[in-house]
Amino acid sequence: MKQNTEAWRALDAAHHLHPFSDTKGLNAQGARVITRAEGIYLWDSEGNQIIDGMAGLWCVNIGYGRKDLAEVAKRQMEELAYYNTFFKTTNPQVAELSKLLAEVAPEGFEHVFYTNSGSESVDTMIRMVRHYWSSVGKPEKKVLIGRWNGYHGSTIGGASMGGMTYMHEQGDLPIPGIVHVEQPWYYKHGKDMTPEEFGLAAARWIEDKILEVGADKVAAFVGEPIQGAGGVIIPPATYWPEVERICRKYDILMVCDEVICGFGRTGQWFGHELYGVKPDLFTTAKGLSSGYLPIGAVFVGERVAQGLIEHGGDFNHGFTYSGHPVCCAVARANVTALRDEGIVARVREETGPYMQAKWRETFGQFDHVDDVRGVGLIQAFTLVKDKQKRELFDNWGTMGLACRDIFFRENLIMRACGDHIVAAPPLVISKREIDEMLGRAARCVEEFERVVVRGQPG
Ligand code: PMP
Repeated sequence: MKQNTEAWRALDAAHHLHPFSDTKGLNAQGARVITRAEGIYLWDSEGNQIIDGMAGLWCVNIGYGRKDLAEVAKRQMEELAYYNTFFKTTNPQVAELSKLLAEVAPEGFEHVFYTNSGSESVDTMIRMVRHYWSSVGKPEKKVLIGRWNGYHGSTIGGASMGGMTYMHEQGDLPIPGIVHVEQPWYYKHGKDMTPEEFGLAAARWIEDKILEVGADKVAAFVGEPIQGAGGVIIPPATYWPEVERICRKYDILMVCDEVICGFGRTGQWFGHELYGVKPDLFTTAKGLSSGYLPIGAVFVGERVAQGLIEHGGDFNHGFTYSGHPVCCAVARANVTALRDEGIVARVREETGPYMQAKWRETFGQFDHVDDVRGVGLIQAFTLVKDKQKRELFDNWGTMGLACRDIFFRENLIMRACGDHIVAAPPLVISKREIDEMLGRAARCVEEFERVVVRGQPG
């Protein structure tokens, strides 16, 4: 394997354009070649064992190396590798998965629409929401409200819905009819308030936007229960219930993007359940198949489903692979395992609380680490210049990258989102593995403070 590393790097540099990457810089350095994985561990082509504290891209909930999922895929490929669900046809796998998803979802979500990714789920949701309003006689309700620093994918719809300005800058986004409000980031925006007061204030920014646009023109508010790629921004407990109240008041659909939070990440099946709210729709992908195959789903609540079914006629939308039998079979095996092996329950009752206690104990003591936070198996902290003053470093993101690079060198995958350092390991991580991961992370943060912040020799 070792001798192949350079060859693979050369091929990759010659022919592969990587997502979210500066190809020139990457090629100069050479990509790390990941060759196999088991549980929470990855191995690269040099034989290094790496702790995957990010579950891939927040998706390998069930952990790597499940042979039973591979078997299911193989059997399904042999039996029915593909057929579409467009023209009056279905397949057993998509029907069975849909029933299972209705079982694990909170009450009132009896219908799903299938996609291949989180971005496609978000695009589907945008078109579905607009089609819903026009089907029930309110075609002028078209505007969707998202949040700055929210992440909803990379397609034109998803990137528009998200609030990443560096994405908007490439390709003239957002598209018309999508507007944004400030994110509920207490540490930065809530200084003179209690978290509870700030949660209400942040929700009311949405109300202000609704009034500015005109409630009769607003179709939906869209938010991640916890902002993932934005840096694991956990809103105060008062935020979502107030958002729900405002959406109901103005008759605006409330949409949760559960692409990261869904399928057990927070210890609940879906992140919005943490906050006791009930969205009209929610988007998923990632943990639905634990990344073993690409599949996403939009969960459609009763109101929208009935509106579409009774009044919508043809919904002129769908993907060649919507309801792909192999992806559905694997998703079904994955969701069944998450439920029947008690994996989600264990995150809620055991490993989640253990991680959260240890995470706070481990990182709370550093001079330049603050806002140590998390729930279930999604957590973060923020690198800060001055803890007392709650002052962030200048040049947002520079310190995060420097810290992330130390993790990377030490064979630990944790991610920098600006100067937020985030982690979301596979949900099967054990307490011993949590200790191992946090021990390694702590040594890296100690080096970061000593070498990068204080400029002492490495
Ligand atoms: N929504 C959210 C909340 C996400 O975190 C992501 C991906 N990180 C997406 C949508 C897009 O998903 P995908 O990359 O599968 O298109």
